[in-house]
Formats: sequence, C-alpha cells, structure tokens
Amino acid sequence: MHQSAWQGELTKVGVVTTLGLAAGWTVEQPLYGLLAGLIVAQVMSIRTMGALFRWSYRQGPAPQDSGLIGYSVDKLIRREKNLKAKLAQQNKQLKRYNQGIESLHDGVVIIDQEGYISNFNGAAARLLSLRQEDMGQHIKNLIRTPRFIKYFDQGSYDDSLQFDTNLVRQQSLQVQITQFGLDQKVMLVRDITERKRVETMRQNFIADVSHELRTPLTVINGYLEMLSDMELPASLNKAVSQMDSQGQRMKSLVNDLIQLSKLESAHSERDGEAVNLKNLGHSVVDQLQEYGDANIRFQCNDELQINGFSDEMSSVLSNLITNAVKYGNGSDVDFRIERQSSGVRVSVTDQGMGIPAEHLTRLTERFYRVDDSRESTVGGSGLGLAIVKHALEHHDSVLEIESQPGQGSTFSFVIPNERIL
Ligand code: ADP
Repeated sequence: MHQSAWQGELTKVGVVTTLGLAAGWTVEQPLYGLLAGLIVAQVMSIRTMGALFRWSYRQGPAPQDSGLIGYSVDKLIRREKNLKAKLAQQNKQLKRYNQGIESLHDGVVIIDQEGYISNFNGAAARLLSLRQEDMGQHIKNLIRTPRFIKYFDQGSYDDSLQFDTNLVRQQSLQVQITQFGLDQKVMLVRDITERKRVETMRQNFIADVSHELRTPLTVINGYLEMLSDMELPASLNKAVSQMDSQGQRMKSLVNDLIQLSKLESAHSERDGEAVNLKNLGHSVVDQLQEYGDANIRFQCNDELQINGFSDEMSSVLSNLITNAVKYGNGSDVDFRIERQSSGVRVSVTDQGMGIPAEHLTRLTERFYRVDDSRESTVGGSGLGLAIVKHALEHHDSVLEIESQPGQGSTFSFVIPNERIL
C-alpha cells in the first residue's frame, strides 16, 4: 500500500518532468524543459491539495489522485466509515441503557462531585418532583429535608437513608448514594410508603392486642396470686404454682411487646433529654439487687451526662444486667461505664454459660433463643435484646457481643461523642 502510493507519486512527477525535458530537447533548451516539467508537476500537486482542502470542509468531492494524497484520502474515508459504524453501535447501546434506566421503577439521579444534578430518569422525576429545568441544580436545593442534607454531606454512603417527605405528597423514601468513577455519584430513590404503611399496621396491631391482653391477664394473675397464698389440696398446689409462673411470664411478654412497639414507632428525630448515666446505673443496679443471687459490681468513675432517653436507656441496662444474672450461672456481673476516645462505653460482663459464635449475629432478633430448653428454666420472653437494639438505635449506638461458650459474655455499646453533654 505504502509502496504503491510512493510509486504512483513518483511516476506522476517522473512522467511530467520527463515530458518537460523531452520538449526542451526538441527546442535545444533541455534545462528550461525540465524546469517547466517541475512547475507543471508542482501545479498539479497544488490543485490536488486544493481539492483536498475543499473536501476537508465538505465543499467538494474527494480529490482523484494516484499518488500519496489519493491514498491518504482513501484511508481517511475508510477510517471515517469505521468510526461512524462504531459510533452508531455505541449510540444504540447508550440508547438501550437509557431505555433500561428509564424503565426502572426506582428513581436514578446522576450527580457530580459537587452535588449538581447531571441526569435523572422518569421515576426520579416522579418521586422527587424534578423537572427538566432542574438539570444542573444542586440536589440539596431540591431535597431540603435536614436528614437528607446530613446524609448527603457525610460523604461516605455505606448505609441507605429513609426519610419522610411531602415533595409530591406525604411519602416515605429510601435513598442510597453510590460513588462511581472519580467524580460522579448515582443516587437510587425508592418509594417505601406502602411498605411503611403495612409495617405501621403490623406494629399497631401488636400494640393493640398487647394492650387488650393486659387487663384480663392482670385479673387472672391477681386470682392466681390469691390462690397461691391459700391452703389448697396437694393435687392443686402444683397446678396453681405453674399457672402462676406462666401467668407472670405472659405478663412480662405482653409488657415487652408493648415496650417494643413503642420503641419501633417512636420518631427517631425526637428531642432527647439530659441523662446522667452514673445515677441511672445506680438506680438500675439497686432495682435488680434482689433479682437472682449474682453480685452486681458497678463501676463508673466520671459523672457522664448524655443527650438521650432515660426510660429507654434504663431498659437497655436492666435487660443486659438481667440477662447476665439469668445466664451467668451465679457468677459476678461486672457493669462498667467508662469514657473512651470515641464516646462513653457501657459494658456488662458475666462468666456464665456463654454463647456459641453462630448465634451471635441473630440474638437481637425477636424471640430468638440460643437454646429453647435453656430459657424454659429461666423464663425469658425472647424480646429483651430486640428492645436493647431498638433503644440503642435511638442513641446512635449498636450492641456488640463477645462471648466464649463456657467462659461468659460481654455485651457492650458506645454512645458517640456527639451525644455527650
Ligand atoms: P430472653 O428474654 O430469652 O432472655 P433476650 O432477647 O434478652 O431474650 O436474649 C435472647 C437470647 O440470648 C436468650 O434467650 C439467651 O439465649 C441469649 N443470651 C442473652 N444474654 C445472654 C448472656 N449474658 N449469656 C448467655 N446467653 C445470653
């Protein structure tokens, strides 16, 4: 290819100059003839370049040339054709992706590093009430909910965010931001209004049933208590004592259910109150001193005040300490509240039966028990740690469990610095 281009070019110049030289010979002026041949060759080149120039501006046809320019033009035409085919293919693919994104039920918003919207699909427009003019706007100008702004500003998006809004109508949305490339974010938006409504219905149902059960249970338990104090025939004694203990168990189950549904429905953005952890710890320990035979050792050196919810924190502490006593095989229970760099660490340790590793992640599920036979003897409702988990969420904290079977367990959590007063 290269070779024939050069050959063509040289032949063209060669023929013209030879013709010039020959014409010069005939008039005995070979040098003038050669010069004239070179000038003609140069003029032909300039004409071809002129045609090339016009073609490059799409003002004329491609130059017809058998030399270097002709070959280059052929090459360029072929390359342009290939590029056009590739571009068409890519456009087709892009169109298919866009159609895919457009057909999603979930909203998709593409945001640049600073937070300006660069694209969104129809679902996002519907859910967030976005219009075409909002392209290029800052996302925080369009979703002004304080929880969203806090979530957006934090910069790391391991978890999704749920929030209520009335952008379009009263609705609950879940958003999850993901970083992609160096300077882009994609935000997925899902409408969870219906899911929340069903969840609230379930919570209300459980709360209503529990409330309804409370009164008849109180009456039954009252009579059972009366019967247990009476002289009864031996045949009835065992039955009454069992009914009494199961009645008490049912009462604590109903109370725990009511407490759990209250915690689940509590608004996460309520204002907290000042809670003195040392005083609260002492009062919980005092209440539980009579519960079981274990010795509870409480250690708290500082007066630590947090912004929280006293009732909920009290129930966290009493659930953890009660469990340590229940499952601690009579060992001492160490209850500590201490300041550390990330916040206030609260821990409850026993040297009891411990928990096999495979159960640890599931302990905070409702009614989850390590071993049913174990609880039938100690009589737990199976809701204690679910209550702890929810109450800790309201304090921006999570329960951590370390345990070795046969060597005891430590249940702990850290209340972050932002909550310390
Ligand atoms: P329960 O009312 O049954 O005690 P919880 O939700 O408080 O329910 O605890 C769930 C389960 O976790 C318990 O049934 C028990 O198996 C296990 N568990 C909780 N605390 C301890 C502990 N300190 N030591 C050993 N097992 C524990």
